[in-house]
Amino acid sequence: MKLDAHWMPFTANKAFKQSPILMESSSGMRWQTEEGQSFLDMTAGLWCTNLGHSRQKVAEAMYESAKKLSYVPSFNLGHRASFELAERLVAHSPGDINHVFFTNSGSEAIDTALKIAMAYHSAKGQSGRKIFIARERAYHGVNIGGTSVGGIIHNSRHFDRWGSVDHLPHTHDLANNAFSRGLPETGVEKASALKDLVALHGAENIAAVVVEPIAGAGGVLPPPVGYLKELRRICDEHDILLIFDEVVTGFGRTGSFTASIEFDVIPDMYTSAKGLTSGAVPMGATFCKDFIYDTVVGSAEGIELWHGYTYSAHPIACAAANACLDIYEEESLFTRVNSGIGAYFENAIHSLSDLPQVVDIRNYGLLGAIEFAPQSEGLPLGSRLFKKSMEQGLMVRGAGDSIILSPPLIIEEQHVDEFVDKLRAAARDIF
Ligand code: PMP
Repeated sequence: MKLDAHWMPFTANKAFKQSPILMESSSGMRWQTEEGQSFLDMTAGLWCTNLGHSRQKVAEAMYESAKKLSYVPSFNLGHRASFELAERLVAHSPGDINHVFFTNSGSEAIDTALKIAMAYHSAKGQSGRKIFIARERAYHGVNIGGTSVGGIIHNSRHFDRWGSVDHLPHTHDLANNAFSRGLPETGVEKASALKDLVALHGAENIAAVVVEPIAGAGGVLPPPVGYLKELRRICDEHDILLIFDEVVTGFGRTGSFTASIEFDVIPDMYTSAKGLTSGAVPMGATFCKDFIYDTVVGSAEGIELWHGYTYSAHPIACAAANACLDIYEEESLFTRVNSGIGAYFENAIHSLSDLPQVVDIRNYGLLGAIEFAPQSEGLPLGSRLFKKSMEQGLMVRGAGDSIILSPPLIIEEQHVDEFVDKLRAAARDIF
């Protein structure tokens, strides 16, 4: 088989194709390769397979939907499953977040949120509000809006940012918050940088602030205590919309349905994807409060938002998401982190602080990162440990100096123990 035809995303294509790893099947916490090697998945794929792999109930729901109704456009047409799904999702959402716009990915959900923010201000006669304030080290997907507000330098290396964007400082602080468990105690003052940016740009020009409640791909950075509340307060003071990108933090990852519920800070919009279908089929969603929906939809005579995707609210994706919601609810997975497994995971990853060159371990819910000292030569230790872990049959995520963990929410204590043993074995090969 020739491998060159498929240009793989976010991959060193040449290197991968010299020794490709081809998965053949998956179930629960594991993948199996064509050669029969098994991998313990400590990353939930790409933070998405919250229910574990290849859930039969989800597969069957998709199959039934595909046989009966394989496609309906959602422009001026509908099908029951999308309305049922929307109703169930907003019932779980906090406050008066009562509306959801379906997309096919997290990237599309973010770009949709940015466009809805501009449509909202325009409907209010404030179309000058076009600047977005995001944050350093943020990941908001790879479409042009998400790339522009994103704060990971590599990701905008070849692309000029579009629109007007400014960035708050990230909240990572090794000097004061290393080895914090849960939210770092100090650093709330970093939110006041928003006041400076409002003064610089003028509130009347700012559309929205967009942040991940816990930065994910940027290194798992839980916000300092009080930080998100302070962003909320400043946004309210200036009529600036607050958007949470919950593509990673939604669907039980923190111990609540969303991080906004967990941290008791309600944004005006939030985005989701990944856990929505537990990775079984692409789907994303942009949620908003009544006042946004009412302003944009209520102000229009005809079509109010000139935006949407051929596959928005695709019947098979809606069937998958409804089946996933059944499982989340039946197995109480939105809050499973609080059943003891979250504490077990926290203790386990902090027990690794004796590995050489560890400079930080941080976690919240079933999210964690172990950070190593930067190296003056060669690959960063996070990337090296990622490779060595694969030899042990362990899948973690290498992110520069760190390894990142976000296991499926069905993880049991024995999987956590297996992870610790395998990571130590991988580390012995390096140090
Ligand atoms: N936002 C966040 C916070 C993400 O982590 C991701 C994906 N890792 C995205 C958006 C983009 O989602 P997708 O890859 O489904 O487009």
